[in-house]
Amino acid sequence: MKFSLLAAAVTRVSVAAALSVLSCVPAAAQRIDYSKLEIKTTDLGHGVFLLGWQGGDSLILIGDDGVLLVDTSVAPMGDKIKAAIARVSSKPIKLIVNTHAHADHFGANEALARGGATIVAHDSLRDRMAKGFTAFNQAIPPSPPAALPTATYADAMTLHFDGETIQLFHPPNAHTDSDTLVHFKRANVIHASGTIGGDGGYPFFDLGSGGSLAGMIVAEDKMLSLSDDKTRIVADEGDPASTATLKASRDMLVTLRARVQKLIDEGKREDEAVATKPTKDFDARFVHQGNFVTGDAMTRLAYESIKGVTPPITPRR
Ligand SMILES: [Zn+2]
Repeated sequence: MKFSLLAAAVTRVSVAAALSVLSCVPAAAQRIDYSKLEIKTTDLGHGVFLLGWQGGDSLILIGDDGVLLVDTSVAPMGDKIKAAIARVSSKPIKLIVNTHAHADHFGANEALARGGATIVAHDSLRDRMAKGFTAFNQAIPPSPPAALPTATYADAMTLHFDGETIQLFHPPNAHTDSDTLVHFKRANVIHASGTIGGDGGYPFFDLGSGGSLAGMIVAEDKMLSLSDDKTRIVADEGDPASTATLKASRDMLVTLRARVQKLIDEGKREDEAVATKPTKDFDARFVHQGNFVTGDAMTRLAYESIKGVTPPITPRR
């Protein structure tokens, strides 16, 4: 295929099509029957529970006075999130953190904040939600005022909630341009905001939403700096990752960046770079059944990120 921006766009459209049955995709783009999904609740200790549903998995922290919720899921899952919380606490949701601008992370904000919860997010996420945006070729309309974050930050923020210290960090241009890494210090749990792959697979970065390979490496380095050998790192789906799994992902990204940079320096076009299979020794570990990020898709993402190609299908309004 002759390399051109159009060809690259076609490639991205096909990647977007593959994305449409998986997590981190705007609700409108998904073909999931939410009525059939069950939420799996996992106790991570110190009042922190993982609410897993094959999408933008949520975390909750149960305190004496109320509940802190990280990510509200897509709108059709809101009632199930509410029911899952009710099974472990009768307290109201006091605080919500939205990790990034994919609809499986903020879609049920309005319903779940109705009791008066404060919604915390990065400045860029509120901006995108207020104006509306496009992700994966799907238009996300402006959010109603009741769904918008009410407290935002630029670089970092610390929350104190019923004895737990929760640190929020913004890694610029990682999975998106609005990511928040959420570190529960006492529980030793980190929500990765999509910056690691589910079940240790290849991670995805959304170039059209301001994500980048370089930012992913910075995000994973940041999480490694916060981790010890008991830390659990929460991806968008699957069981929490270990620090060793995170380290393997970070090392893979650094190696892949060097390999793809070399191919670019040699003058290789994108298709030629893909044909050299720079991920081949990683694929056995990082390609999982059902994971849309294949080795070739990973190479294309890396190539386009290094070249600074921003998909034209996801413009800001
Ligand atoms: Zn995402």
